[in-house]
Amino acid sequence: MITSARRIITRRARSAALCALGAALVGCGAHGVQDAGLPERPHTGGATASPSATPSPYRPPTLAPGPAGLTPVFTNGPRTGGKTVALTFDADMTADQGPRAAAGEHFDNPELIATLRRLKVPATVFMTGRWADEYPEEARSLGRDPLFEIANHSYSHYAFTSDCYGLPTIEPAHIRSDVERAFTAFRKAGVEHAMPYFRFPGGCYDDRALRELTPVGVTAVQWDVVSGDAFATDAHAVAQQVLDGVRPGSVVVMHCTRSAAPATEEAVRTIVPELRERGFRFVKVSELIGAKAGEAAKAGDAAKAGKAGQAEKARRAEKAGQAGGAAQTGSRG
Ligand SMILES: [Zn+2]
Repeated sequence: MITSARRIITRRARSAALCALGAALVGCGAHGVQDAGLPERPHTGGATASPSATPSPYRPPTLAPGPAGLTPVFTNGPRTGGKTVALTFDADMTADQGPRAAAGEHFDNPELIATLRRLKVPATVFMTGRWADEYPEEARSLGRDPLFEIANHSYSHYAFTSDCYGLPTIEPAHIRSDVERAFTAFRKAGVEHAMPYFRFPGGCYDDRALRELTPVGVTAVQWDVVSGDAFATDAHAVAQQVLDGVRPGSVVVMHCTRSAAPATEEAVRTIVPELRERGFRFVKVSELIGAKAGEAAKAGDAAKAGKAGQAEKARRAEKAGQAGGAAQTGSRG
């Protein structure tokens, strides 16, 4: 999936791909969160508003930038906000995999999408721009279906840090243009409202990558539950791993690529009814980010209220002191 191998998939390449897709990655703490007044669309170079379109009142929730303006990172929703869970599906395709697709390898998974529709499971698809180029009709269909939201998984699916499960590494100077190129590919495919969310290939990032992405205005989205679906053939094991890991507010990472994740559709057929049985509601990532931002706003208000309360107390104490002083003066006079 990921190496520079062209027609021949070497064993090494396959195992590197397996790592890149399925490895249990270290969860990352979210930075400070807040609602941010970002435009509905991310700040992409070539973005133009349709002149006839009335401005949409809907702005996807995002998190406020982290320390020093770094791109914020979201991992999971609030744990106390009810039993919600977001299934996310990465539509991986590496920039150099065109020849493999031409040779008949399937990087899409229409059956999985059909199952999600049949079971009415909202989901967030992190799509590579290369995938949208390869499957424009599927990309458009996902983009127009309110059950789904499309987010950005880079154009090339190259790693954004130097050591990421064997993925080829992108030049830091190309990070921003690669992500913007994916948004451009989505629009070209007919996806009009991609979400301003970004998932790092392999989940690998560092401060430099977060800084390079700041001008794009995206919220980076990680996960707290690894499904292990990459190259898995045992759907039951994948389902079990998800069911064992899900907690309220969880974000589950899976894949919607037949060649790289052949058991995912079957696993979903087990996961969905079981989690519903346990009282979970499936939501898109945007809902969890909105809940997290709301929680942060409340915390901010409480902190402000706390400060205001302290100021009021101080004012009263000061007044009392003045009154006391006056009384004393008066008693003397
Ligand atoms: Zn990926």
